[in-house]
Amino acid sequence: MSYQVLARKYRPQSFAEIVGQGHVATTLTNALLHQKVAHAYLFSGPRGVGKTTTARILAKALNCVKGPTPTPCNACDSCLRIAQGQELVDVLEIDAASNRGIEEIRELRENVRYAPARSRYKVYIVDEAHQITHDAFNAFLKTLEEPPEHAVFVLATTEHQKIPATILSRCQLFRFKRVSTDELTKHLEKILTSEKIKAEPEALARLARASGGSVRDSLSLLDQSLAYASGSLTAKQVEMLLGFLPEEFLIGFASALLERKPAGVLEWVRQLVDEGWDIPQFVRDFREFLRQSMVDQLSEGGKERKSEGSGALTPSLPHSFTLSLAGRPISLAETLHMIKVMGQCVDEMRWNDNPRLVLELYSLRLTQPFVDAGELFRRLEALEKGQPGTEAPVSEPLKLHRATAPISSSPAVSGGGPIHSPKISGSPTTTLGMTSTDSAPASMDSLAVSASPDVAVLWKRLITELWKKPTVASHLERAHLKSAAASEWVIGFVDAFALASVQRNQAFLEETVAAVVGRPIRVRLVQQALDRREGEDATVVVMPVSEEKTRAAVQDVRVQKVLDVFKGKIRE
Ligand SMILES: [Zn+2]
Repeated sequence: MSYQVLARKYRPQSFAEIVGQGHVATTLTNALLHQKVAHAYLFSGPRGVGKTTTARILAKALNCVKGPTPTPCNACDSCLRIAQGQELVDVLEIDAASNRGIEEIRELRENVRYAPARSRYKVYIVDEAHQITHDAFNAFLKTLEEPPEHAVFVLATTEHQKIPATILSRCQLFRFKRVSTDELTKHLEKILTSEKIKAEPEALARLARASGGSVRDSLSLLDQSLAYASGSLTAKQVEMLLGFLPEEFLIGFASALLERKPAGVLEWVRQLVDEGWDIPQFVRDFREFLRQSMVDQLSEGGKERKSEGSGALTPSLPHSFTLSLAGRPISLAETLHMIKVMGQCVDEMRWNDNPRLVLELYSLRLTQPFVDAGELFRRLEALEKGQPGTEAPVSEPLKLHRATAPISSSPAVSGGGPIHSPKISGSPTTTLGMTSTDSAPASMDSLAVSASPDVAVLWKRLITELWKKPTVASHLERAHLKSAAASEWVIGFVDAFALASVQRNQAFLEETVAAVVGRPIRVRLVQQALDRREGEDATVVVMPVSEEKTRAAVQDVRVQKVLDVFKGKIRE
């Protein structure tokens, strides 16, 4: 007998068998039980999560000789014909990608009027419904407004925002979700049990993760893996098949970043390139690795606390919550920062044709000491309220260490032997417009205590963040932060062209400022007289709105700090 692909062999035949869409199955089951089936449904969701499958089960449920019933018999003529895709008269599957025009819709409207040939209902399953043209939708609308009693439409789409509102308002909308890794893993396990094939749990988890929440993709990956494996399926085989980086590689790279040694990081990148790994894929994998490690530890932490007796989950975790990455402690804030920077790196690779350079720049950025801007502001506020002791935030050092032993950042994971770090010509960090040394303090604490240039740090971080739009960043680098109050920043430009150019990006700028500072701040851009020589250090002048505030400002610790840092003075 020829091999039948798993997706076909294990296609769900009843609502109960649908994987990961319990909300949809329950609602449809209830509608069938109470005879409240609608005339039009819109199934929206990513590809491969069961939209068409569910539509076919609905068709069976409506037309089964024992129906309409939520549990079709799967034995009668109607059920069998639908299951085998042979019911071509009363259950019509239309691919809107190739039948999208007004002619096809007219034909459909004509066809709808005739009663079903041998069933109770005529069911129209329209795949890729968003592809239907505007005019064709208009024509279709008339049918949806007054559907014949015997007609049920199921529109399936991956992009429901492209369906006209007039159509949407006449459909019952069901959102199909990406299936969670857990559910997918269990599903794969079940299938392998019926196939009498053994597999390492980690192998299945990897397949599930790689399929991005799509049942169909997970099954075709499983098909491929089984063709490749002999006997039982191991995690190693799956890694090789999928072209996954060995996990040691990801851990090693993370470790190099946390050691904050640019040379070590660049060496890892070189090795990635030398071994022929796909760089954009590596960055996506690395980001996912960071995310997964964070999620695992947070949920583990939640459970641990729950079992500690309080009974409820802590509503929010402190920002300084300690995780562990590659065997090193790392704050939640920094983990989030790394994930964000890797996300920006992924974005930039879409249009930059030199992925190696992009990866080098972004990873070097991550070797910089991490400064938690939100934390800085909280401390400033504490100062303002007259709590001079800048107490360290209440951190809750849960013992949350992953089972990974500390791994040296050396790329020679398996090879051993000494590693020759490449001599880097020039300082790579200057490319990023930042200053750094290998021995820079790694933790935010030492930074905040030893230095006071809080606003200066924020300004630097802002410029770094703005490099997502290089033109904005380069103009900002030559601009002056004139004042930095709690609700408004004023930035002065000498160059009118630069001012106009940044004004066009005001929204982006405010967004970035908000991200850096940790709360929304209005940004005012002003033209500034050319009253200073180029290259002179920026002067921050806090400009209060009233005399009263001037007096207050002079006494304000924050203002004094700013003045101190920027050698500024208060102007009336
Ligand atoms: Zn039946």
